[in-house]
Order: sequence, then C-alpha cells, then structure tokens
Amino acid sequence: MAKRDYYEVLGVGKSVTEAELKKAYRRLAMKYHPDRNPDSEEAEVKFKEAKEAYEVLSDAEKRATYDQFGHAAFEGGSAGRGGAGGFNGGAGGFGDIFGDMFGDIFGGGGGGGGGRQRQRRGADLRYNLDLSLEDAVNGTEVNITVPRMSMCKTCDGSGAKPGSSPSQCGTCHGQGQVRIQQGFFSVQQACPQCHGSGTIITDPCGDCHGQGRTRENKKLSVKIPAGVDEGDQIRLSGEGENAGSGSVNGDLYVSVSLKDHPIFTREGVDLHCNVPISYTTLALGGELEVPTLEGRAKLKIPAGTQSGKMFRLRGKGVKNVRNAGFVGDLYCEVNVETPINLTKRQKELLQELDEIILEGGSKHNPQNSSWSDKIKSFFDDLVT
Ligand SMILES: [Zn+2]
Ligand SMILES: [Zn+2]
Repeated sequence: MAKRDYYEVLGVGKSVTEAELKKAYRRLAMKYHPDRNPDSEEAEVKFKEAKEAYEVLSDAEKRATYDQFGHAAFEGGSAGRGGAGGFNGGAGGFGDIFGDMFGDIFGGGGGGGGGRQRQRRGADLRYNLDLSLEDAVNGTEVNITVPRMSMCKTCDGSGAKPGSSPSQCGTCHGQGQVRIQQGFFSVQQACPQCHGSGTIITDPCGDCHGQGRTRENKKLSVKIPAGVDEGDQIRLSGEGENAGSGSVNGDLYVSVSLKDHPIFTREGVDLHCNVPISYTTLALGGELEVPTLEGRAKLKIPAGTQSGKMFRLRGKGVKNVRNAGFVGDLYCEVNVETPINLTKRQKELLQELDEIILEGGSKHNPQNSSWSDKIKSFFDDLVT
C-alpha cells in the first residue's frame, strides 16, 4: 500500500506554517483518536497516519528532507511495517501514542505563540578577597577588578551588527527546540543550529563576533560589612558572567580570606593574643599595657599570677556580622619569658634569690612542694 503524501494526510498545503500544521493535526487527532473510535480499524490507521505525518512535518529538519526526497528519505530496513507502521519503525502501543500526543499538543508549549524559550543564565563567579583582620572587623569598602564575560555594549548583547538584526532560525522556525525521534519516543531538544535561541546572526557584530558578549575587566566597589570572617561570602547579584544573547548574568561571590595578624588570632567573634611577661611582674603584680583593635588597654596583673593565666577583656573582640548587638571578647594569655644571655652579676643575683625563696619552702612554691611530695610517694610505691 503506497503511502499518502504527508501534506495530503494533514490536508494542508506545502507552505503550511507551524501553527496551521499543529491545528490540522490536532483536528485529525481529535477526530480519529482511539478513545473516541473504539473498535474502528480505519480510525486507528488514520490516527497513526496523521501522527506520522505531523512528526515529520513539524520537525524542520525532517520536513526539509521529506520535501526533497519524499517518503524514500525515511524508508529504513525496519521489519514489520504494516499499512500503518511507518516512521516510528513499527507500530508503537497506544500508550506511547497517547503520551506523545498529550505532550505534543496539550502540554508544555502552550499551544503556539512564542514564550517557550527558557532564559539562559551566565555562570556564577567567585572572587577571593584577602582582608586584613582590621578591615574584616571594622568593615571596609574595596575596589576589585573582575575578569569576566559581559554583554557586548556595541550590539547590546544581540550579537548582530548594529543596524542589522538576527533572523529567525530556519531549522526550528524560531522555536529554539526541535523534536527528535528516539525509538518510539519523540524527544524535544535545543535546536542544534541556533542553540536554543531561535535566531541566527547573519551579520555578526564586529566586537563580539556574534557572541553577544565580550571579555572585560570589570571594576567593582564592594562593601564589606563589619565582622566578616574567613569563608564568608558576599553575593553581588548579576555581577557574574553573561552567557550571550538573551541571557541574564550570573552572580559574583566575593569570598573572604583573612590574612595572618602579627598579634591577634581570631576564633569566631573572639580574639586571642599572647603577652610575654617578666617573672618579676608576675610575682609582684603590676599593670600591663595590652593591644586591642581599638587601641591600648590596661590590664591589671595581681601579685603571684602564674604563667599561662588567661585574662578576658570583655567586649574587645569582634562584632557579630549577623547580629550587630553582639560583640566578642579579647583573651590575653600571659606567659613568663625566661631571661637569656645573663651577665655574671645577673646570674649571681638570681642564684641568691632562688636560694632565699627555697628556704621558705611551700610558702613560696606551693605547686613545686606538692609536686615534690607526689614524686616522692610515686617512687616509694614503686619500691615497695
Ligand atoms: Zn557585539
Ligand atoms: Zn533553531
């Protein structure tokens, strides 16, 4: 049985538009749909015939091939082709015919009339910003230069030479999508010709070569809020890359890294510092000047303070970046500095001092005395 011409099947002319084609197919599909014509073999044949014709003619590539070669273009070696088999390489079950039909006509595309292209989005960018502790704590404004692909200013991102405009893509007829056949299934894909844009640049812009975007070093001023910490990110919406004609920019993420500080280390909202101190100051007590990020502060050292003691300066830490009312503390750890390169006289004096203190026993060195007792009993226990 010779196949009928696809245009004839759908009752349309050779110059039929996509919308008319869809309308014609829809009318026939409704009329011959197996649901409406149970037990009618003729309806089933007509339904499949219309479906096959529509599948070819609605696909610009296949339609062009069909116009040139007719049915011969699609004659494969597939077996089992009955009167109504055809293009799909065998009669598919009704299940996939329904699925395909509903997907095709009733679903998705919204029944013709544009608006089916999804807007593309450029890549997000990440910029690593090294900050001093002071800038991170107090907040600052920095100027950065970001190399990125941006919308071409010459053609406003269209990719077409100013004065010209892109023309409709012949492959997908401006839809940006084409249907391809995979076995029994018909799959929608971005048009390979126009990569989904639906348009083709015939006269490309000289600056971006039709890409709609150019490389630039974008200068940006970034406000850094007070209290940012290592790994915090500041998002600059729309300052990422452009993906070419018709796309929206991605975002730029400024990622904070803290430089080492000569005095302070940071733990969240708290600051820590180590203060070297003399044995004498610890023994006699005194006032110590310690650094804070806001300037100098006085720290009272009580007489008899041990090395390693931690002093807390309330509210001298870092403002919480997410809760401005909350400020951390500064912890100062005092550690005795053992004097080195002593002169003969210094050694004699220390020696003498040590002897006098030892004479006082546990009164002056309670820890040392109790330590000695522990050692003694430890060895006594070993012996017995
Ligand atoms: Zn351009
Ligand atoms: Zn296209």
